[in-house]
Amino acid sequence: MSESANEKHAFQAEVSRLLHMMINSVYSEREIFLRELISNASDACDKLRYLAITDPSLQSGGDSFRIDITLDKQARLITIADNGVGMSHDELIENLGTIAHSGTGKFVDQLTGDASADIDLIGQFGVGFYSAFMVAEHVDVLSRRAGSEEAWAWQSGGTGEFEMSAAQKPAPGTEIRLHIRAGEDEFLDPARLRQVISAYSDHVAHPIYLHIAGEADAESDEKPVNSGSALWTRPKSEITEEQYKEFYHTVGHMFDDPWLTIHYRAEGKIEFTVLLFIPSMPPMDLFDPARQNRLRLYVRRVFITEEAQLLPPWLRFVRGVVDSADMPLNISREMLQNNPMVARIRKALTNRILTELKKKAEKDPEGFTQFWRNFGAVIKEGLYEDAERGEDLLKLARFATSKSGDALRSLDDYLSAMPDTQTAIYYIAGESEAAIKRSPQLEGFVARDIEVLLLSDPVDDFWLTTHRMYDGKPFKSITQGDADLKDLPPKSESSDTPDTQDAVPEGDMAILIALCKQALGEAVSDVRPSHRLTESAVCLVASETGIDMNLERILARQNQDGGLPKTARILELNPSHPMIRALAGKAKAGGAASQLEEAAHLLLVQARILDD
Ligand code: ADP
Ligand code: MG
Repeated sequence: MSESANEKHAFQAEVSRLLHMMINSVYSEREIFLRELISNASDACDKLRYLAITDPSLQSGGDSFRIDITLDKQARLITIADNGVGMSHDELIENLGTIAHSGTGKFVDQLTGDASADIDLIGQFGVGFYSAFMVAEHVDVLSRRAGSEEAWAWQSGGTGEFEMSAAQKPAPGTEIRLHIRAGEDEFLDPARLRQVISAYSDHVAHPIYLHIAGEADAESDEKPVNSGSALWTRPKSEITEEQYKEFYHTVGHMFDDPWLTIHYRAEGKIEFTVLLFIPSMPPMDLFDPARQNRLRLYVRRVFITEEAQLLPPWLRFVRGVVDSADMPLNISREMLQNNPMVARIRKALTNRILTELKKKAEKDPEGFTQFWRNFGAVIKEGLYEDAERGEDLLKLARFATSKSGDALRSLDDYLSAMPDTQTAIYYIAGESEAAIKRSPQLEGFVARDIEVLLLSDPVDDFWLTTHRMYDGKPFKSITQGDADLKDLPPKSESSDTPDTQDAVPEGDMAILIALCKQALGEAVSDVRPSHRLTESAVCLVASETGIDMNLERILARQNQDGGLPKTARILELNPSHPMIRALAGKAKAGGAASQLEEAAHLLLVQARILDD
């Protein structure tokens, strides 16, 4: 095939930007390139092992999988070779020329152009294959896809384009040659290289061999650098925190530290080993519409898939592995879809995670609060998707409230602090905590010292449609229906006590209200005196039977320009407010009808402004 010409391909524009950054970066932990390349080599072996289950001819000669790293100091060359699945011509272009991997795509989206800020992102995301260009001025890739005779060479200096040409390779797999840049000589030091490899790869399931060119030490040649035992199969007592952490980084594609590590072996009807991590920072794809979880399923240490959906979508932030002792090795991804064993594992894992979370909430309330800030909005999806877990999840839930300051409170905190005369759990839903705190509807509650949950996650409006009670107490929106605050006394020592002394008498209010109703017609569904206002003159609320204000806002936004007709609100007037007092006086005296009509419209406009 030597007659075939070199092909030149331009990198996708985003890749060029990324590479430019890699090449010019002063990121201090450059050794992560080895972690990335070793994890790719290991993934490639896993992939071929899986494919060979159904097509044994792919793994020719029954070779066992291995990763070989060779250092040639003289030639300034580090080679990472695997006998995994390899890449075809088109896969090389796709995988090493575009941003095919979602993690890397997210990384690129976050780039600011400010070099020092961007450098921090490298550590947070990892950038896969392209990280090789941090240390190499030139990268050659030679790859042959399993099942094919063809091999292809890919090479690039990382600026603008890469070249491809047909090549020869005796066996399937991939070989990556890094021409180490001047100034990166630390990686040419055998001791340093060995140290980096063992730090990053101890748990990699395939053996990694390090060869030093010119040193013919046959003995160390055949002794793997890594221990190669799948970490989750080892007893807890033999695993250091550092090892757990490194495993989490590679397996979870995560770069923070785990907040919680759960490692156990389930025995009984079905047997499986579990090593799970809850991140301490929200992963980038947390609100990805696909809502996929990324737990890796193994069957007796053979990697099967990341797509088995071993957890419900509302636990998609959990990372780690599940190794089943009972599933057949040749289970296909299709067979996994409605597999009863998967359903059982999912249930067991979910139970276990909730139990561990409950323990954490008791033992480490502050840590748990931070966890809830990271993932609470996701867990709350479970309230309407897994209705039977409602009570458990509500027990774990933490809320900002009108009294909590910067802290979060549980519903049990709320219930134990509320007065006997209070019959409901009050809440207000809105777009942000700041917007909610400005809501006039809160005033009467604050004045009476009644705690109100401040709900600002879009999901809140949805779970509240399915869960209307907690511990026998109904949830009640303060922007919907009647506020029935009459039975709750104002807090006595407070200066902002609702000043009912100066309120317009009921009879006079009735006259003003009748005039407003007439003037506003269908623009409102009702006009009535308010108990929930102290400072503001007016507010809008939703009717008891309709949908709540914020939910309507969300639905209207989803339908762009409001496929839903907006339902008319109830306009509430504050009988103690000077303006309402003045208007009521005029109405009673039979003041100019046109002036009062205009005033009614102004009141509605004002209420709407406060509402948005
Ligand atoms: P990621 O591993 O997160 O997908 P990378 O940038 O590390 O992203 O790699 C991109 C893709 O290139 C991989 O998904 C894989 O398909 C392919 N690839 C990289 N290295 C190898 C290899 N050694 N063998 C086979 N395929 C590889
Ligand atoms: Mg990778």
